[in-house]
Amino acid sequence: MSSLRGRRDPRTGRVFGFQSETQRHNFMIGRARFCDGPNRLMPTCTAVTRSGEPCKAARMRGRSTCFRHGGSPKAKKTRLTAAYFSGDADRIQRAEMRLERNRLCMLWSHDPSRPGKTIVLMPDDEEICRAWASQQDFRLDTLDQDLPAFSDALRWLWARKSRGLVSEEDMTAKLARLRNRILEASVALDHSR
Ligand SMILES: [Zn+2]
Repeated sequence: MSSLRGRRDPRTGRVFGFQSETQRHNFMIGRARFCDGPNRLMPTCTAVTRSGEPCKAARMRGRSTCFRHGGSPKAKKTRLTAAYFSGDADRIQRAEMRLERNRLCMLWSHDPSRPGKTIVLMPDDEEICRAWASQQDFRLDTLDQDLPAFSDALRWLWARKSRGLVSEEDMTAKLARLRNRILEASVALDHSR
């Protein structure tokens, strides 16, 4: 490509390559604002992640948050309405499922004993998942009855694990966290009875 440097395209008048160090410098500064790297100067999302650190993702145009954190109730409703207007049955179903999932997750964060599920496994998978859960000392039947929030979380965890999406280390941490939460919730449940 170096042979093209400084040559002018007769049709468009474009000159190839950087014409000076200043031009290269300015270009690199401009690019840093938009490139996808840890040092980019692009404005980042103003939300705080669950681990308590500021979100590093890029903002959506005209918004102060990234696409993951742009979920005001109104925005969510707008998305559902947009799905209905599209007339795409698949899209509508997905939007409704998402709405239901979000609703349940919010209810569960206050009361994990509320009935419901956000994931249904195929019968074969369900069997494997059950075996795996009991190996980890979880009783899915009991959880399904008393604390569906956690049996649901376990099924999601198994589903993600079976697709190779969870590392060994992550799994240990997640299971430990889940055990603690189940323990806390069971104590609360016993007290309320
Ligand atoms: Zn964000």
